[in-house]
Amino acid sequence: MERRIRAAKFPQTKSLDTFDFKAIASLNKALVLELARCEWIERRENCIALGPAGTGKTHTALALGLAACQKNYSTLFVTAAALVHELMEARDERRLRILQKNLSKVDLLIVDELGYVPFTAVGSELLFEVLSRRYEQGSTMLTSNLPFDEWTSVFGSERLTGALLDRLTHHVHILEMNGDSYRLASSQKRARKRGALAQPEPNIHADKPQEGGATSED
Ligand code: ADP
Ligand code: MG
Repeated sequence: MERRIRAAKFPQTKSLDTFDFKAIASLNKALVLELARCEWIERRENCIALGPAGTGKTHTALALGLAACQKNYSTLFVTAAALVHELMEARDERRLRILQKNLSKVDLLIVDELGYVPFTAVGSELLFEVLSRRYEQGSTMLTSNLPFDEWTSVFGSERLTGALLDRLTHHVHILEMNGDSYRLASSQKRARKRGALAQPEPNIHADKPQEGGATSED
C-alpha cells in the first residue's frame, strides 16, 4: 500500500475523513462514499468532478485516489497541464510509446484541473490518445472547473472534444460540486473570528461572500 501511495504521486494526502460534506450541498455524499469503495474501478468506469474553484474537487480526487491505493489499485495523480507537458516531452525524446503504455496500465488515472490552461493542438491530440486508450481498459477521474459544453475551448477542436466526451461519459459518475469556495469561506470565518475579538459588535454582513469574491480564487 505504501508503495502504491508513493507511485501515485499525490501532491498532498487528503482523505474523506477530513471532508465536510455539509459545506457542499450539491455534492452527492452517498455517491462519494460509494465511490470510495472502489467497485467502479473494478468495473473500469470513470468519474468526473465539475465545479468552480475551491469547492473540493482536488480534495475529493485525492481522497478517492488514496482509497484506491488502500484497495491495492495502481493509481496515478497528475494535473492536466503537467500530463500534457510530460507527453510532449516524451514525444520529443522519442519515448512517447513507453509513456502511453504506462499510462494505459494504471488502474486509476486522476487528471486534475482540466480547463485552466487550454492545450495546443498537439497537446490535445496526445491527451486525447491517452484518455481514449483507457476507454474500458481502466478508470479515469477528471476534475474540471468547466461544464462539458465549454470543454471545446480547452481541446480546441469540437470533433475531438465530442469523441472524448462520448467515451469518457459512457460509464461515468458525475460529481456536481457547485457552491462557494471552501477556501474563501474558511478564510472569511477566520477573519470573522479575528474581527469578533477586535470589535464589540458582531458584523452582521460578514457571512455574505463579497460580490465577485469567489472568482479571484486560484
Ligand atoms: P478545488 O480543487 O475544487 O479548487 P480543493 O479541493 O483544492 O478545491 O479545495 C480547496 C481547499 O479547501 C483544500 O485545502 C481542501 O482540502 C479544502 N476543502 C474544500 N472543500 C472542503 C470540504 N467540503 N471539507 C473540507 N475541506 C475542504
Ligand atoms: Mg483543484
